[in-house]
Amino acid sequence: MGLPANFIKSLPRINGVIRYTEAHRDIRYPVDIDRIIRDLIIDIEVKPFAEDVLEGYCMPGNIRGLGRRIFINENKPVEVRRKAKAHELHHLLEHSKHLPLFSHIGHEDKILEKEANYAAAFYLIPSKCIKLSNEWGINHQELAERMDVPLDLVMKRYEIYLELKEHKNELETL
Ligand SMILES: [Zn+2]
Repeated sequence: MGLPANFIKSLPRINGVIRYTEAHRDIRYPVDIDRIIRDLIIDIEVKPFAEDVLEGYCMPGNIRGLGRRIFINENKPVEVRRKAKAHELHHLLEHSKHLPLFSHIGHEDKILEKEANYAAAFYLIPSKCIKLSNEWGINHQELAERMDVPLDLVMKRYEIYLELKEHKNELETL
């Protein structure tokens, strides 16, 4: 187990995007992933896909990063579409050499897919929510509903929280 090393390395950049877009400022509502993407001048196209197992994919733009576009399967439920948008955003920002990547259900075995899913968890669930969910007295399922994400993202977000906490403690004891 453990978080993918490249996901950890990308965290300062993910945090940079979150700060730049002020996406985690108001935690009363689900994170506005569409706005994050639009603020980065990336287009989103939601359309029905012929292939049902495919949730989304993205296309790199030109050499200056213009014309980047995320495609999302309209046939998926809203929380899956939200996850797919954040997942594809991570591919665009971190995996540009490997594009296009096609994100299928259950492709967690591939390292880039795994990284993008952890990144989606980080984009869509502010750390404040993880810290406050005990105080609110809500369980994982309720947090998933509140943030409008699939339950597996809440599990991943907890994993990130615990691992970073442990890492911080390690650094402090050095
Ligand atoms: Zn993917």
